[in-house]
Amino acid sequence: MIIVMQQNATEQDVADVFERVKKFGYTPKMIEGSLRKVIAALGDGRDKAQLQSLESLHHVESVVPILKPYKLCSREVKRENTIIDVKGVKIGGKSLVVMAGPCSVESKDQLMETGMAVKAAGATILRGGAFKPRTSPYSFQGMGKKGLQLLRDVSDATGMPIVTEVMSPKELNLICEYADIIQIGARNMQNFSMLKDIGKKNKPVLLKRGLANTIEEWLMSAEYIMSEGNTQVMLCERGIRTFETATRNTLDLSAVPLIKEKTHLPIIVDPSHGVGYWQYVKSMSLAAVASGADGLMIEVHWKPEEAFSDGPQSLKPAKFAALMKDMGKVAKAVGRSL
Ligand code: PEP
Ligand code: MN
Repeated sequence: MIIVMQQNATEQDVADVFERVKKFGYTPKMIEGSLRKVIAALGDGRDKAQLQSLESLHHVESVVPILKPYKLCSREVKRENTIIDVKGVKIGGKSLVVMAGPCSVESKDQLMETGMAVKAAGATILRGGAFKPRTSPYSFQGMGKKGLQLLRDVSDATGMPIVTEVMSPKELNLICEYADIIQIGARNMQNFSMLKDIGKKNKPVLLKRGLANTIEEWLMSAEYIMSEGNTQVMLCERGIRTFETATRNTLDLSAVPLIKEKTHLPIIVDPSHGVGYWQYVKSMSLAAVASGADGLMIEVHWKPEEAFSDGPQSLKPAKFAALMKDMGKVAKAVGRSL
């Protein structure tokens, strides 16, 4: 349920409602950014009538049920878009954000060269995996802590904040020391205990859509994080499994307007994993911007033919720079900027 306070409600009135909600066995959460004060009462939904009775309080305007199973991430609860500030880079506003870099951190030279190149082309966030979720245990698993240190070095040199993936709860504290955005990979989208742990951190999160998950399941995962207190969640569409094998995944761009309608969270598109081949990354990046995405995550490698992972879908820096130019034009056409 959402409890909408009267416009002239005082802090004391809000505290009073918080107490009552708790007494009924629900957890009250203040919704930030609304014009009016709004409190979400979260719980298992038993005895809603008690909550409804709060409507009789003079400082309460209305008590309305949240119809969707996801609550805190829903547009029903918060109408304005959430804008996440990552060291001055605003995600979810008019300006688009581009996160770029290699799939895996492989060496100092590789990351520095690639990082400098994407920064020069206009990227604002550096991506790179230090802990890699690989299908085969015999494939390169990532550089681990050394990779995180390299990300920090290149971030310091370029001024770009870092997004990097956490694969397991045992690395979470370490990742938090280095990352500016914690990436939750597709394979971990429903690792509920890790989602809860991440929900207790005060760090922006990029939550990728699972390989074969519905939009509702994806939003329920966002809800897991937000219900623990961390509301700085952005979503990332990275393609889903379908019968089609010509591309690595099927990039579901229809998810973008849907997410915009159903939630107030920023939505990022990752065309690199979405298609799996560099040849189609440009078209799908432009289409993602046209569809209303708040940003892109793109894999770029200085020498894709030598990449330890995802070389076939990685753009060379020059191709990335050309893409950024075209992306600026599409952004302008849809009322956004790069
Ligand atoms: C990645 O970003 O390199 C990655 C492994 O992504 P996903 O979880 O979408 O497969
Ligand atoms: Mn990758």
